[in-house]
Amino acid sequence: MKVRIPLAKPEITNADRDAVLEVLQNSRLSCGPQVEKFEQALCAYLGGNYAVAVNSGTSALHLAVETLRLPRGSEVILPSFAFAAPLNVLLQCGLRPVFVDIDAGTLNTTLEKIEAAITARTSAVIAIHTFGRPLDMPSIMKLAERHNLQVIEDACEALGTEIYGQKAGTFGDVGVLAFYPNKQITTGEGGALLTGSLEIVNRARRLRNQGRDPAIDWLQHIEVGYSYRLSDMNCALGLSQLRRLEVGIERRLWLAGLYGERLKVIYEVCTPAVNSPLGRMSWFCYVIQLRENFDRRDRDRLCQALLRRGIGCGRYFAPLHRQPIIAGEGRESDLPVTDFVADRVIALPFYNQMTESNVDEVVAALADSISEIRRNA
Ligand SMILES: *Cc1c(COP(=O)(O)O)cnc(C)c1O
Repeated sequence: MKVRIPLAKPEITNADRDAVLEVLQNSRLSCGPQVEKFEQALCAYLGGNYAVAVNSGTSALHLAVETLRLPRGSEVILPSFAFAAPLNVLLQCGLRPVFVDIDAGTLNTTLEKIEAAITARTSAVIAIHTFGRPLDMPSIMKLAERHNLQVIEDACEALGTEIYGQKAGTFGDVGVLAFYPNKQITTGEGGALLTGSLEIVNRARRLRNQGRDPAIDWLQHIEVGYSYRLSDMNCALGLSQLRRLEVGIERRLWLAGLYGERLKVIYEVCTPAVNSPLGRMSWFCYVIQLRENFDRRDRDRLCQALLRRGIGCGRYFAPLHRQPIIAGEGRESDLPVTDFVADRVIALPFYNQMTESNVDEVVAALADSISEIRRNA
């Protein structure tokens, strides 16, 4: 059956289309004025010092690792319950991932779990605001300082999230954002590196463009670089989207609250807390958990049943420590909460244009699908 209510959907307005068309008609397509404007708008919104727009969130993570000069072979702490990008980057750069467990309620890792994973070989922590829920960044920064560690703050799922009033992405030594079409704002493909360090931003700008030093000349390659530029079309779209970000965040908060209310009647699922004690949440996905008497097979069958009813859904996340790319690498993982949660999560449709009746339809389809898999158990 065709998906009637997708898992995610970008919101593209006429103003967005006009902004991109204008670039195609009037201005440079790459390395032009839109790139700088987008970077400045991100800094103004976040209250940060520097932003470097790049062609994906993964590229931003890669530049984060490179600009922090983490020693090859050193250990980097990150949660296993996460998107694959940080793991891929660590493996590409010859770093050793050390996975930490999560809290079943927040789906984020905790200060205590990070602290317990620190060894003499640890060089950095990748702090991920999972699904937009804030981490306690001030405490993580203090811990990192005590142990002389660098912090990469992955805010790819958390643009607009606040911790005690300060925006996610601006706490770490380097922060990263992503603008894939399922994120809070999109540039089609894209990402950004955030930092307060002039040295890091200068190096990131160089690495983004073949190792060129913009202060010298176009054909001076002073170090081995990459082709990670983001085009002016992408940046124009990002600028236009950024203007509506706050409206989108409000809408998503409302939707999360609505889901929570409607799902109360389904005993079999646990819903995420709508608010965080740490600050305003910018919702990325809406992820529920099945109760413990369900297992991975039940969850997978439930997703199939939802899809048959035309409802998009996702099994976020499949834990990184179970991925074939690290079989035999790293350490033995002992991550009971991650293993338990990963087998029971379901991401439900969640996007700005969703209506109250869409939410009702999803909840009805979920109740119906649960009865179906119960009957066939
Ligand atoms: C989306 C995302 C990224 C970056 O993804 P790209 O597709 O490369 O833009 C990085 N980290 C996390 C946690 C993400 O959710």
